[in-house]
Parts: sequence; structure tokens; C-alpha cells
Amino acid sequence: MRHIAIVGSGPAGYYTAEAALKQWGDEVRVDIFDTLPVPFGLIRTGVAPDHQSIKAVARRYESTALTRNVRFVGNVMLGRDLSVAELQELYDAVILATGAPHDRKLGLPGEELPNVFGSAAFVGWYNGHPQFAGLHPDLSHQTAVVVGNGNVALDVARILAKSEDELADSDIVAHALAGLHDSAVRRIVILGRRGPHQIAMTPKELSELAKLSRAHPVVDAADLPPVEADAGLDTGLRKSLGHLRAFAANEDNRPDDVTVEFDFFAAPRAILGEGKVEAVEVERTRLVDGKAVGTGETYRIPAGMVIACIGYQTSPIPDVPYDEQGGRFANEEGRIAPGLYCVGWARRGPTGTIGTNRPDGFAIIEKVAVDIPGDSGKPGRPGFDALAEQRGLQVVKFTDWQKIDEAEVAAARTGAPREKFVEVEKMIEATGRV
Ligand code: NAP
Repeated sequence: MRHIAIVGSGPAGYYTAEAALKQWGDEVRVDIFDTLPVPFGLIRTGVAPDHQSIKAVARRYESTALTRNVRFVGNVMLGRDLSVAELQELYDAVILATGAPHDRKLGLPGEELPNVFGSAAFVGWYNGHPQFAGLHPDLSHQTAVVVGNGNVALDVARILAKSEDELADSDIVAHALAGLHDSAVRRIVILGRRGPHQIAMTPKELSELAKLSRAHPVVDAADLPPVEADAGLDTGLRKSLGHLRAFAANEDNRPDDVTVEFDFFAAPRAILGEGKVEAVEVERTRLVDGKAVGTGETYRIPAGMVIACIGYQTSPIPDVPYDEQGGRFANEEGRIAPGLYCVGWARRGPTGTIGTNRPDGFAIIEKVAVDIPGDSGKPGRPGFDALAEQRGLQVVKFTDWQKIDEAEVAAARTGAPREKFVEVEKMIEATGRV
């Protein structure tokens, strides 16, 4: 028998559990830990609420979760409730699948002003992450600046741009829907420090901007390289450029629309304001060897909110070596130390799609199989249960989550899939175990 602890119940965690089942069948017991009492990590609190088809992948994780060799151990936080060393005493392998839930900083003057957010916080707000549910962004100014040219920037811009009707069948939480209902934001400026050929946005996500009911994308044709230059791009990027070109060519835009404006070759240099955001100072850039270099030309965009969508970092865990530069655990292809591994964003940084985590999960289990060829006699589950009892931990099981799930589905507004609980206490109450 092998006892595996996976820390983090998002895509990387569940794909790794799936791989462990494939590798060892009935000869493995997997415990999947999560700080929250609810599973699925990024699927629940990262994926945009209007991307329900992407969220459907949780059904696959559910089938893994429901096999008797896999257990969900929710509401238990590594570093707070027990240490990595303690987990390692109990399990043959500890695999950190904790994702990258922290915002990278812009490192600009004015970043500490109220109403400047990182995307983890802002996305967490509209997705009902308990840590960010109380964010209260001020949406009373008509211009919002979104920094970054990745898919998260697109998610944030789209959610700000959509009408209440367009969000009706999403699982956006009630407080965010109400906030957006009252929003004065009419202009969303997406700043890209490099150019159209350097975007990290994918075509499907870009195409959604053309279908919004009360908003339209704006691209300045002068920013686009000659069309012949697109030929050298890979297929996805070429398609993305096709969308940007269509946005630039579109002349029948409705004048009353919310605008989603792409400002390329535009690096933010400072966030300006007295006690609140009033403007963003931007420097024009040009590309030198693929890098954005300032031209010295600056301008100001009057704005009341800034959301930096510039990537994420893994949260450090006490006693686990950390790669500050990469914002992830220090590791050699997933190996951190004997018996300690990482997978997914915690291993490689915040790149790739949800599906990228599947081969990652399978690869790490292959390494565990090589490193730990036989039964090491560690206690596994019964050992953890004894420790949890001794510490009085209020562990949430998968069957408890199913009760939370039922209550959320029952509370959904008409047309929506669920109304999420946004407080840990309310989640635990819904399990009926208090
Ligand atoms: P990302 O794809 O890495 O994009 C980050 C963007 O921020 C880049 O355009 C980058 O520009 C820019 N940036 C970084 N530092 C900056 C700075 N200091 N100033 C200005 N701009 C800066 O990250 P992401 O958007 O957070 O997405 C994370 C991952 O999740 C990606 O793999 C993404 O595809 C995935 N995702 C997928 C979906 C979907 O499929 N629907 C939705 C959301 C996220 P440079 O290129 O110049 O560094």
C-alpha cells in the first residue's frame, strides 16, 4: 500500500489523484487536502463565472473524488493546522498542488492606493472566494484600467463590460452582480506593455469580446503590424491577430456602448491620486529584441480603478524551499526533497490551460513510483485521523461538500447554476455538522 497526500484540490490535485489510481489501483490511498471546505480550487474561484462549460470539468474530478481510495480532506491548512514535516511522517509522498493564488506586484508608485487590485483579489471577489468576498471595489468611476495582455485580463474586462442579463446564467456571486449592476464603468482600457504579436490572449477568449450586448472592443489599426507579418505566427496567435484586425476594422460600433480599448506598447509607470486612484501614468514603448523599452513619451489615463492581471505566485509554505524569482516551489521537475513533490502551477508557474495539468499529474506520479517503489509502512489515513482528532480539526469530507453543493444549487437565482457561500462558517454550517 502507498499513502499519498495531495495538498490542493484544484485541477492539478485531482489529475494527480487520477494518475495515482491508474498507477496503483487498490494499492493506494490518496488524501486530498484543501484549506477551504469546498473542492476544485481554480475551477470554483479562478475560472470566469460566465465560462460554465470550462467549469464542467469538475465532474471528472468528482468521479475521481468518489472512488473509495480517494478522500477529500477540506478545511485543513498546511502550515496552520499541521506542518509539512508532520504530513511527511504520515504519508509516503506529499505532493503540493497548491496552485498560484497570490498576485504578482506591479512594483509601481501608487500601487498601495485603494481601488488598485491584483487579479487574484478581483477575480476572487466576483467568484466568491472567502478571502476576497469583502473587497468592495469602487465602481463609481467611468474608466477602469486593466494591466496585462493575458486571458485573465480578458476575463476581468469582459466581466466589467457585460450587462446584468449577460451574467444571469453565470455563477457570479450576488454581491458582485449587485456591485456591477450599479457600476458606472463605461470605458475599460487594457494596457499591453508589448504589441499585438506578443499577446498571451487566446482566440476563443478574444472572440467573445465581439459578442457583447452593450460593449465593443476597440483596436487602433496603427498598432497592428502589416498583415503579412502574421504568417510567421503559430496558429493560435495568428487567429488571435485575426480577431484584433476585425476589431480594428469594425466601424458599426454603437456610440452608447461600453468600450474595451486595447492600448498596446503602453507600460504603466505610476498610479496617481490623492487617497484614491485618479489616473494611470503610462509610457509608450517600442520593442527591442522582443522586450518593451520605454520611449520617454508619457501620457495619463484618468481612471478610478486599476486591476493588474500580470500573473500569479505560489504561496510559500514554512520549511518548503521557494524559488522567489519564479514565484513557485524550488524543484527539479517536481521533486522538492525526498518524499516531497509539487505539481501544476506550484511546480511550473501560472502557465498553460487546465488540461496542461493532466500530463503534469501523470508525470509526477511516475516519479513517485520510481522514488518509492514499495510499502514504506507509514500510517497514512488512520495516522492523520488520529492527529486531526487530537488537534480538534473540523475536517470537511466530500460527502459534506455534496451537502454544501446541494444548498448552493438550491439557493441559485433563476437561471444561474448556484449561489456560492462566500464565508467559510456558512459553508461549514451547510454541512449540517455543527
Ligand atoms: P499571462 O498569460 O502570463 O499574461 C500576463 C500578462 O501580463 C502578459 O501580457 C505580460 O506581458 C503582462 N505583464 C506581466 N508583468 C507586467 C508588468 N509588470 N507590467 C505590464 N504588463 C505585465 O497570465 P494570466 O493572464 O494571469 O493567465 C495565467 C494562465 O491562465 C495563462 O496560461 C492563461 O492562458 C490561463 N487562463 C486561461 C483562461 C482560458 O483559457 N479561458 C482564462 C484565464 C487564464 P509580457 O508578455 O510582456 O510579459
